[in-house]
Amino acid sequence: MTAQNLPSEPEFEQAYKELASTLENSTLFQKKPEFRKALQVVSVPERVVQFRVVWEDDQGNVQINRGFRVQFNSALGPYKGGLRFHPSVNLSILKFLGFEQIFKNALTGLNMGGGKGGSDFDPKGKSDNEIRRFCVSFMTELCKHIGQDTDVPAGDIGVTGREVGFMFGQYKKIRNEWVGVLTGKGQSWGGSLIRPEATGYGVVYYVDHMIKYASGGKESFAGKRVAISGSGNVAQYAALKVIELGGSVISLSDSQGALVLSGEEGSFTPEEINQIAAIKVERKQISELASTSAFSSKFKYIAGARPWTNITGRVDVALPSATQNEVSGDEAKALIAAGCKFIAEGSNMGSTQEAIDVFEAHREGNQGASAIWYAPGKAANAGGVAVSGLEMAQNSSRVTWTSEEVDTRLKHIMEDCFNNGLATAKEYVPAAEGSLPSLVAGSNIAGFTKVAEAMKDHGDWW
Ligand code: NDP
Repeated sequence: MTAQNLPSEPEFEQAYKELASTLENSTLFQKKPEFRKALQVVSVPERVVQFRVVWEDDQGNVQINRGFRVQFNSALGPYKGGLRFHPSVNLSILKFLGFEQIFKNALTGLNMGGGKGGSDFDPKGKSDNEIRRFCVSFMTELCKHIGQDTDVPAGDIGVTGREVGFMFGQYKKIRNEWVGVLTGKGQSWGGSLIRPEATGYGVVYYVDHMIKYASGGKESFAGKRVAISGSGNVAQYAALKVIELGGSVISLSDSQGALVLSGEEGSFTPEEINQIAAIKVERKQISELASTSAFSSKFKYIAGARPWTNITGRVDVALPSATQNEVSGDEAKALIAAGCKFIAEGSNMGSTQEAIDVFEAHREGNQGASAIWYAPGKAANAGGVAVSGLEMAQNSSRVTWTSEEVDTRLKHIMEDCFNNGLATAKEYVPAAEGSLPSLVAGSNIAGFTKVAEAMKDHGDWW
């Protein structure tokens, strides 16, 4: 099939172009022209599995969904990447997520390939029994294609520890083996401590390095006003870590609207974040809490909106942590106008290409206080999959590390991830005198080069 005959895949094409354009605009292909061939090869998944998921709802009706697993690249290790259950899921979205995952996993320094999967199943409004029956049916097919040394899925949007548990149980029944085939497992049955926290904590650890580098070690999260979108796993733990480090969290959101501080002072408290976490376990909306007197006296709720243009007062840091393309070009400009200096994606491809262009234009040539620094999800949110990799290591050796041990390793991985992107940008990306290095280009080149070299060693291109 020629490229012209392929179906349109807008999200995947966006992710591909974002990576390819940063490689093109660097000196990588001048120094290593043969890597153009590697780019062509790496952009085609090794395998895509697509299957039917039939399950029974509580009324006894037959329900049908589509299941997918994109096994994108196994050069560095078993395919690794989450499962997303959301009505918007399609092959384009899973290919974009799987593609990003290849390079993100490379940046962790651990031996993991890249993959992603999921279903257009909507867990919202479903009973526990319906979710269990769906997960059992989904894994009945998926288990033929995964394994601890082949492909190790995890959670993503709509897939929490509960769904991982149902799927793990079904894998174990069918295959008659207890192996670490999924990560994000319950902590009493093979899960790693700090895995739930890892993505959100990791983003904040990463941004801490950005702040310290840009300020020459003079600044930290202390006193910073941090706008966050989303209120799920990533957003909750990012928010809690920001507060622990002395910052203020000034917004959260969900798919129905944004909750932002009404005034210019204060912060979400850990108790308020825990209240939001509790309603999210029941898959309820923030709007339910927003209308209570405790919340309405402190926050304003804007239905159907994202936080970025609705914040009162200054923004220092923005952490998009809900879903893809959640910062537009205009919203990027609004954030900069509000004083935002650091943007790091908890979500995958959180920024549109227009937003990235705005952020990068304000990085280049700007010196000192006025510079804007943007970090892409594939670097900033790598902490989640990194601790998944640590979970695999613990399962293989039948040991459990303490929270402190996992957290220490997570911190080191995020530091290495930051330094790797930084050093690679300095090596390959021409920048105006005094500009901060491009973390998006540096991270893309560092991840891509590692995978391309491994693929060459395996004879995947020559
Ligand atoms: P959750 O399902 O826990 O939370 C998702 C949050 O985003 C919810 O607040 C949800 O709102 C909101 N959201 C979902 N879809 C949309 C939409 N179309 N528009 C606006 N808001 C939306 O997911 P996670 O926190 O795990 O994931 C968030 C992002 O982080 C995703 O991009 C994911 O790929 C990425 N990520 C996650 C990792 C992890 O370890 N979990 C690792 C690396 C990246 P509502 O509650 O109303 O549905």
